[in-house]
Amino acid sequence: MDFTINTERLSKRLSELAEIGKIGETGVCRLALSKEYKEGMELVRTWMEEAGLSTRFDHFGNLIGRLEGKNPDAPAVMLGSHIDSQPYGGRYDGTIGVLGGLEAVQTMIENDIVPESPVEVISFCDEEGHRFGVGLFGSRGILGQLEPGELERADENGVTRREALIEFGADPDKFHESEYNPDNIAYYLEMHIEQGPKLQEQDQPIGIVSGIAGPRWLSVILDGFAGHAGTVPMNMRRDALAGASEIITSFNSIVKTDSDAPSVGTVGNLQVFPNGRSIIPEKVEFTIDLRDTDQARRDDYERKLRDSVKEISEKHGLDYKITDDGGTSPKECSREIMTIMSEESESINLAPPVLMSGAFHDASHMADACDMGMIFVRCKDGISHNPAEYSTDEDIAAGTELLYKAMLRLVKN
Ligand SMILES: [Zn+2]
Repeated sequence: MDFTINTERLSKRLSELAEIGKIGETGVCRLALSKEYKEGMELVRTWMEEAGLSTRFDHFGNLIGRLEGKNPDAPAVMLGSHIDSQPYGGRYDGTIGVLGGLEAVQTMIENDIVPESPVEVISFCDEEGHRFGVGLFGSRGILGQLEPGELERADENGVTRREALIEFGADPDKFHESEYNPDNIAYYLEMHIEQGPKLQEQDQPIGIVSGIAGPRWLSVILDGFAGHAGTVPMNMRRDALAGASEIITSFNSIVKTDSDAPSVGTVGNLQVFPNGRSIIPEKVEFTIDLRDTDQARRDDYERKLRDSVKEISEKHGLDYKITDDGGTSPKECSREIMTIMSEESESINLAPPVLMSGAFHDASHMADACDMGMIFVRCKDGISHNPAEYSTDEDIAAGTELLYKAMLRLVKN
């Protein structure tokens, strides 16, 4: 396909960045604020400058490249993602959003298009959250959403986030200088690998994201009574695991109520006490992860789950306790941006499906500050956070071309 963006340059940069922190043939380990992270960020910085952007590192460890517009006071159009990775990660997660964003802006400059509003490309610090246990650090940082105690969180070697930031060259005492007034950001666009199998299944290179699901986390504890597996008759048992399995089955049916809805529910952790072959399970604890893009539907499913825990526990003679482990509300993508993306897709002969994001992204937080839009790029078998993560150069180019075209509409050149 004939694209305006420079697909060769983009592919070359992606491979070059993948050399930093490379593990095995295709893997990457570039933990936030590590030596490899810094090296990667410095490389991206040279590319930003090559493109003609003025660059800076902020105090959260983010890298920002800025192109002034005809109206320097207009709120900026921001494009970004992250280049930090999981310890045994892949080369596309995050990086395609940063380098694709840069490619879009560089293409605009090379085509002598001067935007009305300023454009910024941002490479957010610590999206993954592996090293200090909490992620989306840079995007929360610029919006003033950090929680108390985050700087004191230490990695497995005892290095705190504060120390790592200082080592990187940032000054945590000057965070306020790096915060944005949301009035100064008009739009945020992020291209990311899908991290799921839907685009592959639908044979589509890219998709337009409708929203980012908000997770609801709960823990359930069921208390029954232990007894010998051979001697206690079935009708006299208070078997916590039998109850738990019924609840899990019921939870699955609840979440599947509407097969067109993107709702997903998972019991990912289950603890059985005493966990022996010949003893009736006395106590079972399990986690609930419930995600949806529709808050009302998610609330409804949570209510139904709670009813079902009560009813099934009573049936099995179990005591139960449901603990609230928090969660976040779903985030909607801007309808304006989604419309622009679908209109612009036609000009490149694509008809991307609309899909939701089940995973978090920096865009989740940016949605609190401005209109947000996301493009997903097909990834092989939906695999991510693993060296087997793979997207083709062609698919990434298609996503970047759409990013470019959508950006042009938003900067109102
Ligand atoms: Zn990512």
